[in-house]
Amino acid sequence: MANREVNELVDHARALYEDIDFGAVKRWKAEAPGRKAIGHMPIYVPRELIHAAGMLPVGVVGGGDRLEIIRGDAFFQSYICRIPRSTIELALSGRLDCLDGMLFPSICDVIRNLSGMWQMLFPDRYVRYVDVPQNYDAKVGGRFWRLEIERMLGDFARLAGREITVDALRASIVVYNENRAALRELYAERSRRPWVYPLSEVFLVLRAGNILPPEEHTALVREYLGAAAADTSRKEMDQSRVVLAGMFCEQPPHGLILTLERAGCSVVDDDLMLGLRWLTRDVSTDGDPIEALVDVYLTASVMTASRYSPEGNRAQWLVDSVERNRAEGVIFCAASFCDPALLEQPILVAALDRAGIPHTEFKYSEDTGQFAVIREQAGTFSDSIRLWSEA
Ligand code: SF4
Repeated sequence: MANREVNELVDHARALYEDIDFGAVKRWKAEAPGRKAIGHMPIYVPRELIHAAGMLPVGVVGGGDRLEIIRGDAFFQSYICRIPRSTIELALSGRLDCLDGMLFPSICDVIRNLSGMWQMLFPDRYVRYVDVPQNYDAKVGGRFWRLEIERMLGDFARLAGREITVDALRASIVVYNENRAALRELYAERSRRPWVYPLSEVFLVLRAGNILPPEEHTALVREYLGAAAADTSRKEMDQSRVVLAGMFCEQPPHGLILTLERAGCSVVDDDLMLGLRWLTRDVSTDGDPIEALVDVYLTASVMTASRYSPEGNRAQWLVDSVERNRAEGVIFCAASFCDPALLEQPILVAALDRAGIPHTEFKYSEDTGQFAVIREQAGTFSDSIRLWSEA
């Protein structure tokens, strides 16, 4: 295939983002009889296990700003985030019928409750609450996680109707190592030259990883890296370098990200779609692949609000990110009513204050449509940190 222009690649990713009917998943299944797809909520599930069974892992992150919620509201109280209601709405409207199962990783009580509702609403479908370990001792959390992985492997083998061999699992680990390496490169390049890789594009390219088979997604990321770099019309702009924190689960609408850019913010790091980048190094392909998946989870999981940290300074990752990416400030940008993000925020704010790093905060919902106030706030923040850093 001829090299595609960057606009073509971004349009392709945007079409996937806007398709709340999961057309790409349906097409993938239709290409070969018997294919199955397994959905999963944010943040982390070991997608290698699904892939090794020959099935397609599909990230489900709610309905965004294109879905009207009609029945989903009846399932939840008003004072929680939007992602569970819009996910229920997607399911009740038949849009998730292409999924042959659904995984609910242990992020928070909302997702735990959602998994229970799923079991009651769809008793004929495969549902699993994925209880990731909160103990990082190999003899405790490691042993537990190994058992969970073995149970999932057994489930997926039954669903797929085939054995999952050690070689198949190792091959899937290689595929996902390549995907994570491409994303690490994208984040590193974006930090170096954010005007070449604006977040409004990076977000769409990332999101495509929810839907595309990982091999295709890796190819898209690598093609985007090259095509954006080759676009000579992209020039460095006088914008402030900021880190976004708090967006690891419910995703903001694309319009909000565009608003931040128009307000003068160059995003140099973020925690969007964190599950795709949960593991910070390659999974070993030597020895027992299950042990490798356990070990990497215990020793190389990204730091975020939804995971337990036994260390005292659980905010250091954010200070480190600011320093590593030469950021001038942090924007806390969390989903409304997101307990993990909002309960963590005071700890992070205190750490930034100690380090003298400017910050501001606002909340969003996946269907936020009014951006004027956010633009003013982010614009004022951007202007002020540029003035401070020049003073
Ligand atoms: S947005 Fe926050 S509160 Fe809502 S499901 Fe996700 S982690 Fe839980």
